[in-house]
Amino acid sequence: MKNISRRTFNKKLTQGLAGTALLSGMPLACGMNSGNEDKKLGIALVGLGGYSTGQLAPGLVNAAHCYLAGIVTGTPSKEQQWMKQYNIPKANVYNYENFDEIAKNDSIDIVYVVLPNSMHAEFSIRAAKAGKHVICEKPMAVSVAECDAIIAACEKAGVKLSVGYRMQSDPYTKEIKRLVKEKTFGDVHYVSSDAAYISRGNPDQWRLNHALSGGGALMNMGVYSIQSNIYGTGTNPTSVAAQQFSTMPEYFKDTDETITAQMQFPNGVVGTMFTSHNANANRLFVNFRRGWAELNPCHNYGPLAGKTSDGKEIKFPHKSQQMLQMDDFAKHIKTGSTNFAPGEMGKRDMIIVEAIYQSIKEGGKTIPLDLGRMGIVST
Ligand code: NAD
Repeated sequence: MKNISRRTFNKKLTQGLAGTALLSGMPLACGMNSGNEDKKLGIALVGLGGYSTGQLAPGLVNAAHCYLAGIVTGTPSKEQQWMKQYNIPKANVYNYENFDEIAKNDSIDIVYVVLPNSMHAEFSIRAAKAGKHVICEKPMAVSVAECDAIIAACEKAGVKLSVGYRMQSDPYTKEIKRLVKEKTFGDVHYVSSDAAYISRGNPDQWRLNHALSGGGALMNMGVYSIQSNIYGTGTNPTSVAAQQFSTMPEYFKDTDETITAQMQFPNGVVGTMFTSHNANANRLFVNFRRGWAELNPCHNYGPLAGKTSDGKEIKFPHKSQQMLQMDDFAKHIKTGSTNFAPGEMGKRDMIIVEAIYQSIKEGGKTIPLDLGRMGIVST
């Protein structure tokens, strides 16, 4: 590792040196295998709002493969408190204007974009151009075109990209995937998934402002329902039809309040989803040929709970989903292990989101989906 900076090393690793060796079973040169697998990667959080403060930063405290190395904030008053609480040096503190200088900072390996949805693309692309691996919060962006731009920027820069889909690292989700894959109760016939919560308070909050959010319940919670329909069936949908319900137009002035959608999957499998900013619902029900599995709650930070038709409880020790998610991505960068939420997955979900909005606009028309060609399957 002589004469090679950590940044250069990580980039080389990403560009496939280690990946090739791991795939071929060759031993890794330069101590890459042991030394650097143990090294924690530095994460910089961009946007220190509710999710960074309440979940991501605390999740990083106990992570094994990464740590909170830096912050990017537009609110100077937050700097001192974060630096003190998480032992962050001043050199690793940025604002939205000088953010691009992060390129010169070797202690930041990953930039995690935790801003309102309409800002995801800009900051993910700037992070990639700075040579940093990127985690982009869900929904990945506000359009498929923006998802494409993020993916292209990361490919061009030779950096890794992941979407903040914490459920993909959660053991309950993995158990549903196992039941589906191993056909424990036979083939899946029907899936139903709800992801919704009651939104009140400031009607001017960014989540209810279309320019900043790109949409309402569907963009915020609906992506979870789309995801659990997909991992609940083990396949991507082939079409979708959707309906919108508005019962409080004076509060939900600018964004969707409640949406239901029906998806068709290969082999006659049907899925339904419900998402809302005006109801509390959080459940996944998978109906197999010879039984069923249910998670309730299903999409929140946990502890989750579940059961199957044979009377068994689905139960795992509770761990921070955010810690598991960021550790999985750091391991992916270091060792070439699976990226459980790649950019193509975020783009796939945005294709479905756009089809749902199109269906609503066209009076509930069934919109065909051609996701097979993307090569993103069943996860
Ligand atoms: P938040 O409102 O609590 O924080 C938003 C942050 O963005 C704040 O620090 C704010 O200062 C900053 N910001 C910069 N420009 C802004 C602008 N023009 N308007 C409003 N805020 C601005 O939001 P949050 O709950 O932390 O959500 C941030 C992102 O994280 C969203 O994309 C959201 O979907 C995602 N999120 C994901 C999960 C999850 O479970 N994966 C959970 C919550 C939020």
